[in-house]
Amino acid sequence: MSAWKSFVAALMTLMTLSLGACGGGSNEQAEAPIEAAMSQVFEWKMATTWPKNLPGMGTGAERFARAVEAMSAGRLKIQVYGAGELVPALDVFDAVSGGAAEMGHGAAYYWRGKLPVAAFFTAVPFGMTPPEMNAWIEWGGGLQLWREAYAPFNLYPMVAGNTNVQMGGWFNREINSLDDLKGLKMRIPGLAGEVWQRAGGTAVVLPGGEVFTSLQRGAIDATEWVGPYNDLALGLHSIADYYYYPGWHEPGAVLEAIVNMDAWNSLPADLQAILEGAAAAINDSMTNEFSARNAISLQTLVEEHGVKVRPFPEDVINRLREISEEIILETREEDDLSRRIVDSFLAFREQAKTYQQVSDIAYADIR
Ligand code: CA
Repeated sequence: MSAWKSFVAALMTLMTLSLGACGGGSNEQAEAPIEAAMSQVFEWKMATTWPKNLPGMGTGAERFARAVEAMSAGRLKIQVYGAGELVPALDVFDAVSGGAAEMGHGAAYYWRGKLPVAAFFTAVPFGMTPPEMNAWIEWGGGLQLWREAYAPFNLYPMVAGNTNVQMGGWFNREINSLDDLKGLKMRIPGLAGEVWQRAGGTAVVLPGGEVFTSLQRGAIDATEWVGPYNDLALGLHSIADYYYYPGWHEPGAVLEAIVNMDAWNSLPADLQAILEGAAAAINDSMTNEFSARNAISLQTLVEEHGVKVRPFPEDVINRLREISEEIILETREEDDLSRRIVDSFLAFREQAKTYQQVSDIAYADIR
């Protein structure tokens, strides 16, 4: 009896829908909200932590915005602001969280003061490489943890770029042993800054726009920024002689697009999908750009500017690794969410490390 009633109810619904579809008046009523949604234009502001049009990150943010506008046929227009144009670089998180800008582009480790574990979504010293980070975030549970971590701040994060494995930084004198780190004042953000402090140095956080002048006027003795492509653009080779590798502190920095949760929820589903799609596309595109241009820029730095490229001494790397692992485990103790993020990250890194030995590393060695 109840099965029969369900069947009749389903049939009635179907007939109503069919009739509705045939009747002119009902059809217009059904399509009116869809047409209204399709004609609504969203004009958003994107605050970034980069100097306007900085090669790589700044130009990537612009390409992202243009792609969203084209894919949405002009229904979602994003105006990109360089650091300091709308808000200072290090205020982007608060500006998007509070709604002063609908979205932002930057790096999660800049927000370590508010959320210590945020660094795990950008770069952790001796952490994972760009392909490993992308794999963890997309397929290893990283993204769910990231969204959980940002939800209390009214933010929705997406992966939107990568600088690739970075260089160790610019120094105005040679580093021959651990003793040379004593008192050395370096621009180095994230957990790496804390590592640098414990290794005997002094760490400062400065946005990209202030790096050059700070090093030039001697306010800092050393700086890391990104890699050959970006560092050449900032002109760091003209104020420091030594370029150290590898980037133990930033084995590839994941860049983020953050969206104010209320702004995100105000978008129709297709525009949300367009934002997600454009973020995934710019993540690939920027990664490829850095791969292509880092190699050629290193050649320019060495051959045209006489930059001295040096590896960090083994004892320095060993000590930095030791401290890094200590700090990673300390971050784990912050709270339950930090514990889950760090555990997930470390388990993935261990698996990736084992596999790399028989894949990328083994292959690079025989090529
Ligand atoms: Ca860096």
